[in-house]
Amino acid sequence: MESISSGRAFGGVSRVPSDVKWRVPPSADLQAILSSGTADESVVHSRVRRLLERMHREGRLNSATSATDIGVVMDEIFPLPGQLDQAAYERYLDPTDRTMVYHSVRDAYTTPNPADRADLATAMQDAAATAQTVSTDEPGLRAVFGPTEWSTAQAGYRLINNRLVAISADIEHRISTDYNLDAQETFLGGWASFGDQHIHLLSTVVSDPLTPRSKVTLLHEAAHLADSRIDDHGYYGTPGFEAAEEAIKVNNAAHYEELPRRTWGISSYVGQTFTPGLTSSGAPLTTEEQIRAGGVQYYRKAWDAASDFDSLIKDVRRNQLDGTPLDGATVARMLEVSPLMDLTLHEQMVSPPEVTRLDITTSESIVRAMSIAKRNVPNVPNVMPMGPFLSTADEIAAGVSLAVDAAMAAYGGLLGDAARDRRLVDWLHDHYRNVYP
Ligand SMILES: [Zn+2]
Repeated sequence: MESISSGRAFGGVSRVPSDVKWRVPPSADLQAILSSGTADESVVHSRVRRLLERMHREGRLNSATSATDIGVVMDEIFPLPGQLDQAAYERYLDPTDRTMVYHSVRDAYTTPNPADRADLATAMQDAAATAQTVSTDEPGLRAVFGPTEWSTAQAGYRLINNRLVAISADIEHRISTDYNLDAQETFLGGWASFGDQHIHLLSTVVSDPLTPRSKVTLLHEAAHLADSRIDDHGYYGTPGFEAAEEAIKVNNAAHYEELPRRTWGISSYVGQTFTPGLTSSGAPLTTEEQIRAGGVQYYRKAWDAASDFDSLIKDVRRNQLDGTPLDGATVARMLEVSPLMDLTLHEQMVSPPEVTRLDITTSESIVRAMSIAKRNVPNVPNVMPMGPFLSTADEIAAGVSLAVDAAMAAYGGLLGDAARDRRLVDWLHDHYRNVYP
């Protein structure tokens, strides 16, 4: 999996890139939920209100100013019990704009358009050739992966080459993408399944694959296909990346980006030799740097788990549209998460619950919040805890906890209750790679 928000592209506390847009369901969907009685009106209103508040926070509601009161907007949109005023809704939200209104869960997981496949195959072959070239660069391999593991990394690059060539010949079956822009919404560059030898990609990688940035994504995901031990242990450019231990680096997909990035001119560490425990300046990580690195890793795992839940709930939505029955374990997991995220599932009057587009848009807004909070961690103030502590490890753990709360506060909070926000972040962190039942 790769996070497109990671690294140095975005800095600054609660600075949100200009493309931030929360999404809401189409008005007809909301009216249908109200009319069918799937969930109580007060439940629907509270969820819509929260999505509108998150959009408004980012200045993304049409016709609204910073002084606009969301309570007033809600009264305009829902003027009478059981009624949604479509014209009022669409004054604030353009129904044709997929970055504002959720369109199709089917478009969110589909095969690349035939017109996109030739360039995508070329990009994969380019990335494969680069992987092969860097596999012969012993000095470069030693500089990044270290004296003990460089030859394992060399073998890794040969496998990456092999996988990229194989997949480029069968794009129709081995690549999926997302034309509904869910991946943009959740900052998901892509994910890879070693077992299925399958890669899912951000639509801009599929439509514009020949850029260095797109080739990095292809190579990162192919690293996961090369060896099941190659996982995610810290994204490119995050605090402590250059200071990681050899045993971590050789099994971390993002470290396989570095030598190709040097070739393609988009490295953040040009000419550097990575030394475990040392930053780019050559100094050991300070306690504060270790705390911030730990906070970023905490949110990376929470984001990853939230992204997995988002995939799960969208799979369920597709299955429900197809009439495929749900298994009990999946229903149980959804009902466990629903009260944590304030979805509607545990409040519904139907059993099993129906995954509505209100649940889908709420879920993806939470994935997005985890990514934005992660980005805040390097810059939030006051992460040093009050001592004394028995050990540096205890001090770092206490500091990480402060950093996690501070980063969510800098984002502006998620559920209107800092303790509930933290319970959700902790649940996600604790279910990293263990969301699917
Ligand atoms: Zn990954």
